[in-house]
Amino acid sequence: MPKISDKHRKIAQRIAKILARNPKNRFSHTPRSVASPGPELHLSSKQWSDWKSGWTDWKWHIRHSIRDINSFERLLGVKFSETTRKAFARTTEKFPMAVTPYYLSLIEPDDYENDPVFRQSFPSPQELIIERSDMSDPLHEEEDSPTPGITHRYPDRVLFHISNICSMYCRHCTRKRKVGDQDTMPGKKEMLKGIQYIRNTPQVRDVLLSGGDPLMLSDERLDWILGELGKINHVEVVRIGSRMPVVLPYRITQDLVDMFKKHHPLWFNTHFNHPREITATSRAALTRLADAGIPLGNQTVLLAGVNDCQRLIRTLNQKLVKNRVRPYYIYQCDLSEGLTHFRTPVGKGIEIVESLRGHTSGFAVPTYVIDSPGGGGKIPIMPNYIVSWGANKVILRNFEGVITTYSEPESYQATFCDRNCKSCNLKLKEDDAVEQCVGIEKLLSDSDTTCSLTPMDNVRMERRNNVA
Ligand code: SF4
Repeated sequence: MPKISDKHRKIAQRIAKILARNPKNRFSHTPRSVASPGPELHLSSKQWSDWKSGWTDWKWHIRHSIRDINSFERLLGVKFSETTRKAFARTTEKFPMAVTPYYLSLIEPDDYENDPVFRQSFPSPQELIIERSDMSDPLHEEEDSPTPGITHRYPDRVLFHISNICSMYCRHCTRKRKVGDQDTMPGKKEMLKGIQYIRNTPQVRDVLLSGGDPLMLSDERLDWILGELGKINHVEVVRIGSRMPVVLPYRITQDLVDMFKKHHPLWFNTHFNHPREITATSRAALTRLADAGIPLGNQTVLLAGVNDCQRLIRTLNQKLVKNRVRPYYIYQCDLSEGLTHFRTPVGKGIEIVESLRGHTSGFAVPTYVIDSPGGGGKIPIMPNYIVSWGANKVILRNFEGVITTYSEPESYQATFCDRNCKSCNLKLKEDDAVEQCVGIEKLLSDSDTTCSLTPMDNVRMERRNNVA
């Protein structure tokens, strides 16, 4: 991990002073299943050296998560107006605040009101505006939950909620209704019920560990969950969805990654929304994960006033690709309560995709989706590239506006599909092919028992065959 910058050191020192005056700023309660909170802070001179080195310790950031406006103000070195203070009090009654010192340190104090990190972390009174179309659970995750902790929406995969707390609470969180409720933090008993459901449902081949943030659990608990899932034969792949590389990259320790390596194939999706979130520390975290052979993806949420700019999204995606992260989805902001001020028109998303496709590498273009209200799943949205369509031609346009014709094959005969695959002339063979060795390669190979090759018209062999 990189060295601590002077800016970060100063923030660590300011946190120490604030907590010295007001020890209530600490987490008052840490659920048992969350990684051990470590010793309580006593700001004696003896512990001062620990403070200075605490910055790179992820548990330190969790312990010193900023939850009140005074600390936020002092750490940032700004002064909020009385109106902001009153609005903060009203908003946090419904949607509490928690920000890691690391994430807060990314805010530019001179222009904090326009800062993308500030807007994603500081409560706005607009969160209290509930529009007619808003819902507390727009994706109907509770309705599609056959057992607590599991959302089973698509045929072959499930979402497994293993945590409902995060190191910081994103103001745009779609699960605002439950994230942060420590009293309903799933324990081992609840998790076993989820694992049991997966075990009893053979069509589930892909499990997405989600939350809250799954990386709020200790390495030991994660190791146990991944181990239990690994024992289920029909689970072919496990994915982890976590915002830690963005809001607390120090969580991606070598120990964590070494543990992950035992559980391949493991995929990891994170949630960068703005290029400023990519720092030396988050790069180091992504490098660790990628070096461990974990395929990395990113899910961005399109947020008004934060990242609703085609140029900015292009920069973000190109930076991600440079760090071996594949931009996977760009989400239209959900209809969750309190997110109205973050929502853009759908046209903005289409405009952004228009500025990406063709203008940058295909793998730097995420799929723009609307997660359908009512629980229908993700629906891809994109600009229209088909201009017209006739009996044997499709008229298309490219990203430059070039209009072109694709002639469809005249000889194509559709295969009649009655789902009777055994008699189908496509010879459906889904098993792995067996590698065939050819020529001298056959004799050299240890996997082939052939010991000699003979030309077809060899006279000696013909004689041998005639005698036989
Ligand atoms: S990390 Fe994810 S689940 Fe947690 S608050 Fe942010 S968006 Fe919500």
